[in-house]
Formats: sequence, C-alpha cells, structure tokens
Amino acid sequence: MMAQYLALKAEAEDCLLFYRMGDFFELFFEDAKVAAACLDIALTARGEHDGAPIPMCGVPIHAAEAYLARLIKAGHRVAIAEQTESPAEAKKRGSKSVVNRAIVRVVTAGTLTEEALLDSRAANWLVALAPLGEKIGLAAADVSTGRFELTSVSPANLDAELARLSPSEIIAAGSLPTFAGAQLSERPHAEFDSVSAERRLKERFGFGTLDSFDRPALAAAGGMLAYLEEVGRETLPFLRPPVPVSSSAHMMIDASTRESLELVAAQGGGRPGSLLQAVDRTVTGAGARLLAADISAPLTHRHAIEARLDLVARLEGDSTLRHWLRTTLKALPDLGRALGRLVVGRGGPRDLGLLRDGLDEARRLHDRLAVLGDAPPLLAELLPALTGHGELVDLLSRALVPSPPIDASQGGYIAEGYDAALDALRSTGGEGRRAIAALEAQYRASTGIAALKIRHNNVLGYHVEVPARHADALMAADSGFTHRQTLAGVVRFNAPDLHEQAMKVAQAGNHALAAEAAHLEELIAAALDRSEPIAAAADALARLDVAAGLAERAVEGGWSRPSFTDEPCFDVEGGRHPVVEEALRARGERFVANDLSLGEQKRLWLVTGPNMGGKSTFLRQNALIAVLAQAGAYVPAARAKLGLVDRLFSRVGASDNLARGRSTFMVEMVETAAILAQATPNSFVILDEVGRGTSTYDGLAIAWAVVEWVHDRCRSRCLFATHYHELTRLAERLDALSLHHVRAREWKGDLVLLHEVAPGPADRSYGIAVARLAGLPPAVLARAKSILAKLESGRAATGGIAAGLDDLPLFAAAQEEEEAQCDAIRAAVESLDVDSLSPREALDTLYKLKALARE
Ligand code: ADP
Repeated sequence: MMAQYLALKAEAEDCLLFYRMGDFFELFFEDAKVAAACLDIALTARGEHDGAPIPMCGVPIHAAEAYLARLIKAGHRVAIAEQTESPAEAKKRGSKSVVNRAIVRVVTAGTLTEEALLDSRAANWLVALAPLGEKIGLAAADVSTGRFELTSVSPANLDAELARLSPSEIIAAGSLPTFAGAQLSERPHAEFDSVSAERRLKERFGFGTLDSFDRPALAAAGGMLAYLEEVGRETLPFLRPPVPVSSSAHMMIDASTRESLELVAAQGGGRPGSLLQAVDRTVTGAGARLLAADISAPLTHRHAIEARLDLVARLEGDSTLRHWLRTTLKALPDLGRALGRLVVGRGGPRDLGLLRDGLDEARRLHDRLAVLGDAPPLLAELLPALTGHGELVDLLSRALVPSPPIDASQGGYIAEGYDAALDALRSTGGEGRRAIAALEAQYRASTGIAALKIRHNNVLGYHVEVPARHADALMAADSGFTHRQTLAGVVRFNAPDLHEQAMKVAQAGNHALAAEAAHLEELIAAALDRSEPIAAAADALARLDVAAGLAERAVEGGWSRPSFTDEPCFDVEGGRHPVVEEALRARGERFVANDLSLGEQKRLWLVTGPNMGGKSTFLRQNALIAVLAQAGAYVPAARAKLGLVDRLFSRVGASDNLARGRSTFMVEMVETAAILAQATPNSFVILDEVGRGTSTYDGLAIAWAVVEWVHDRCRSRCLFATHYHELTRLAERLDALSLHHVRAREWKGDLVLLHEVAPGPADRSYGIAVARLAGLPPAVLARAKSILAKLESGRAATGGIAAGLDDLPLFAAAQEEEEAQCDAIRAAVESLDVDSLSPREALDTLYKLKALARE
C-alpha cells in the first residue's frame, strides 16, 4: 500500500495528498504534519517506513469539504486519490491486492466549484499569464460560473488588471507577479502555446476565427486550458466561450488605489466598511458577484454606462415593478453555480431542481417585463435570454420530485409517473414494507410479546428485536426464529417470512436506485446540452438584480443619476461619502454634504484645514462618485455632472498607513511616482497628505513639487489635501489651482469641526485645538501653546519655511536650464576632432569638459 501511496504522491508533489481509505481520507508523512497543524486534528502514526513510524492523520469523508476549505484557505493545494475499484474487485485480482487508487482531481483555490468552499457573493478567478513580446497575455476563468475572459495588457497595467479581478490563484509561464492572497504557481512554457490554443478554442467553442484575441491572449488561454486539464484530470470544467476584455473599456485603477478607496473590501480585508457593502442591495449571489465586478471595473464608454443607468432609472421610477422584481429574484436559485457543478460532474438532483425552478421563474419574469411600456434598450437586450428554456423545464418538472435531495445515492428524486417501470419497482418495495409492518403485528400476536419490534439497520438488515427478558421463548429451536445478535438489553432474531419480504424490498430498492441513476444521467445530459443558454439566462438575471438593487439604494439614500459631458469636468453638488454617512447615521450624527467643481480652468483643488476636519472624506467621496457613476450607478449627491475618467488614482500619506505596519515613506513615494508617470488629462487623482511620511522640510518640498507636476504635466483633475499651510502660496503661480479648506471654529476654547468645504485657505492649523479634543493633558497643551507662539514669532521674522520659494524657477524652467548645460557639453564634444588631438590637448579638453559640467 505504501508503494502505491508513494507513487501517487510523486504525481502530485506540490499538493497535500488525500488518500482514500474506507470512510476516511488519510494523509501521511510531511502532509500529515502540515494538515494536522493546519486543521488542528490529531497526528497519529501507522506502521513503519525506513525504520521510523509513519506520521498520519485523517479526515472523515462526510466532513471532508469543510477540512478542504480550510486547507485551501491556508494556501495549500490538495490532490484527491480515490479508490477506483471496490475491495471485492481487488480481491478478485488476488488475495493480497491493494485496491486501485488514482488521483481524480487536484483542488486549488482557483478551481473550486463546491458550494461550501465558495463565497456565494464573490467571483473566484483563476488567472493565467503569458508574457509574449511587449505584452502579457491574460486569461481569467471563474469555473464556478464558466466565465472566461481573454485580454492582453502592457506590463505597466498588469497590476491594475490583476487588482480588478482579485484572483484567488495565478499561474504563469516564467516569473510570477506578486499578488497578495492568491495561490501562485509557475507552469511549463510549452503549455502556453498560442497556436495549439487557437486550435483547441476553435474546436471547443466552434469559433471560425479568433480575430478578437491577440497572440499573448491566446498563449495565456493555452496555459489555462492545460492547467485546468491537469487539475481536473482530463475533465475540463465549465467554460463558456471566451470574451475579449479591452482594458481601455475600463477605468484603470491600480491595486493601492483600490485598497485605499476600499472599493470591494475594507482595509482589514472584509466587505463591511467597503463601498460595495454600502451600495449592495442585490438579492442574489449572482447579482452580488456582478455588482462587485462592476464596481471593480467601471466603464469608460459613455453609451454603455448610460445603458446601465437607463435601466436603473426605469426601476427607480417604478417602485411597484422594483419591489416585485426584487421579491421574485430573491426566490431564485443560483443558476450559474448549479450549472458549474453539473458540468464537472459534482452536481446532483438538487442542482437539476434548481435549474428547473430558476428557469421557470426566469420565464415568468420575462412575461411580465416583456409587456412593460417604455422599456430601456438594455432590458430589451436581456429579455430573450430569459425564455426558450420551456422544453428543459417541462422535462425536469415531469422527471423530478418538488425538492430533490443534494445526494443521489439514496434515490427518491425521480417523480412518480415519470417512468412506469420505476413506479412498479417502488410499489413492489412499498408492498414489501407494508408486509413487513404487518408481520410485526403477526409476530406480536403469535409470540404474545407486545414489546416485539421489527427493526432495520445496515448490518443485519430487517430483524426482529425483543427485550432480553423475553428472548428465551424465541431461542427455542422450534420457535421459527433464528438468533442473530445479543446486546445489553435486547436480543435480535431473523425469521423466514421476514427474510423473504426483506429480500423483495432490497431487490426492488436496488433496481429502483439503478433506474433513477440512469434517469439522472439523461437529465444532466439534457441540461448540459443547454449550458450556454442557461448561463446567459443567469447573466441576464444577475444584471436585473444589480439594476434593481442600485435603484433601491438610490431611493433609500436620495441618490441621483449622474450625467456625463465630453469636457474633463467634475461638478458635484451636495456630495456625500456613502460609507462614512452610514457610520455617522448609526451614531445618530448627520453627514455634511459638500460641493466640488473641477473644470478646465480650475482643475486642481488644494484642500487645507485641521486634522479630523473631513479632508480625506471629501477627497474619497468624490473618487467614489466617479467609480459609482461609471459603473452605471446613481451617486450619493444632489447632482453630478462628470467628464469620463480614464484612470483613477488615490494616494494617502504614509503615516496614515503606519498602523498596518507595511507602508513606509518609500512605498508612498513609489506609488506617487506611478501617478506622476501615468496620470493623463482625463484622469482623476486624489492625493491625501502626500509627503507627510518624512520630515517637515522634505515633505513640504516633495508635496510642492508633486502639485506643480500634476498641475503642469499631468493636467489631471486633482484633489490635494495637505496640512502644509505653505502650499497655499502655490495658488499665486498655478492658474488652474484653487484653494479650499474644511471649516472649523473655536468656540469658548473648544474646537468645532464643521466638515464644510469652503473656498480659500484655512486661517490656521488648529493642531493644538485638535490635540485638546483628543484629550491631551492641560499641562502639555499649555506648553505646546507657548512653544507655538515662539515658533510663530520666528516665522514672522524669517518668512517661514517656504520663504523664498516664490523665487524658485518652475519645473520646466529648472529642467530647461539643466538641459541647456547639457547642450554646451554636447556641443563641445561634437566639435572635437579626436584624431587630431595630441595627448596633452586631449587631457586639456577633458579638464575643460569637467569644468563645463561643474557650472
Ligand atoms: P481629515 O482628513 O481632515 O483628517 P477625515 O476626513 O479623516 O479628516 O474625517 C475625520 C472624521 O470626521 C470622519 O471620520 C467623520 O467622522 C467626520 N467627517 C468627515 N467628513 C464629514 C462630513 N462631511 N460630515 C460629517 N462628518 C464628517
């Protein structure tokens, strides 16, 4: 047995091997140690290998999913080795034969389909990367729903694209990217072959041409297919035809921006506190997954955004329709995932029942929505997917009982009347059971033992049971009963007529089970034949759910429909931060709405004011409004008119993140550098206290230079929050920069933060007042006050730390000067006739060049 184990283990070296033994999956050697520690189960030993006991642990089959989930979550991959023959078959081959086993599947984070292992409200992406030339091909598959995307990205955009998908597993040819939370594995280059991938995609999906995909994308698809085949051991999971995803169709948002804006997860990692959580009013798992995808990838094409908004608007304006739609959707099963399980052969009768009920509801939805007046175009586009499933629904309705079980092994899922032969078998079984019940009464009468019972268990089958004190009568040789078992209080017997009826019941039962299994197979095949239309129906239902949920949220919060213009403006009246507003409401406080107006003329707002004054909140709420609007949602504002945003950036000064123990000033600068390199005039940038992570002088200098660069070079719409009061002097020089502050007042010695954004610079920083608010001891506050007075008198005398900055040449000027000097050196070098120089002259020339460089 150990030899077999070791051979299987060698096939799956990078996995923990679940080795099936009876009702357990056993793990041995290192695997056992790792699993025992991770699962907190007992580590035991068994036999010997190379003179040492073999560590072992095991998990019972019935609870295996829960254990698997924990191992996968902890980052492990698990290979499942099942018995591929029965012990009886093995015995036939020879008395000492070990039951044949084979790895039937490798379970990895990105290839799960089990309901228990997946979050119903989140997609589960497996991503394959194939660097080819200047591009990286990217294939993404969610095998739980069959969604399959292909694209290619430039290396600079890879990070943003991965952040959009947030995959749970990444495979790649060659070097792997770092992506927190994903299982990573390197795969052989040969698997990422675009030519064979093209052929296979054509075969599998019946494509005539694959023009919408480039070579890198096809290579990634090849790697994906090869990997899925390997982990599925030749059975490919559910994959729908690949859809091309163009990164220019989405707002680019890099990973740190997503994290800092808490789009789909809060900084701690969970959903609570995220934008998604604050917006999500969907009622189905598929709807929640689609909303998360929408928020992760806001659109950049106006007509597509407007199409989504038209549907939301229609539902927002019709509360009867919206309530009916949401109630109907709520009762709907998760069609996509039921289908996913059926495709990989892990689906059962219940999944077919889910398809039946879901598709039937879809048709009812269709019938009601189809007669709707002034239907938006998106609705008309979705409706056809909801019908046309009648034949399958009829078949499943006739074939299945109303609520079929998850597990097929006990039978009982095929409805009466579907198959006359099956009905006959069942009635034979039923007659047998009735006969057995009658026998009980008969035996009681004939023996005079009122406590006699006929029972059934898996070991003895049907048997007669009497209390021990009555056993003697039945033990008699001529009693007609045969003794089977004596337990503490009871004794068990068999009897010929009981045996005969029991055989009848068992036989009919076995035949019925086999008949049901055959029907199940046919029904699954019939469903799989229609997998693409079913998946399309699931998609359409999810889109309806998202739209209805967004409409519901809009009504609930008094949100408004954003409008779009072609100019790069950003006009928001009465904007609010959905997450902060909700948190405040829970505490009984009111959120103060604020306006923003960015345009060609004033595209950069510098926001100053005391800590805790609401600067960050203001910056973020506007970034979130951009995300929501382009995702096709209403926005938390009285009115919003926006120019489309191509890229969104958010950076938060390092010290804000120090508590998380990872961000440092260095990270802040790396991220800032990325913005300065990538932001365009159509981008929207929020910079919160950039430069705070270092000393005052450095920080101010960096913040100053960054503002200038964004203003002059990137020309993006930008909100810049800072506590460097000195930066306000930039307004004198930068035309498109305007000054704003969050208002605060000192009242009877106390600081009152008004959270109102007002024009002009803050009059002072209120740092000491904030410190008092925070409860610093009065003595410390008094001391700080006197130090401040001293510092301020010093500043008045020297003009402060930003004194003289006005005289600095602007960026461009500084750079030109550097270039001019460079040119002088270049001119001198170019004018040299190297061949005619004597060694002495050459040395002189070098001295001259050096002097030039020093100028
Ligand atoms: P800053 O960035 O200026 O330090 P924050 O934006 O972090 O300030 O806001 C601090 C706190 O003030 C928030 O946690 C919130 O409770 C409150 N706050 C911020 N903006 C508003 C607002 N517009 N209305 C009401 N309360 C607000």
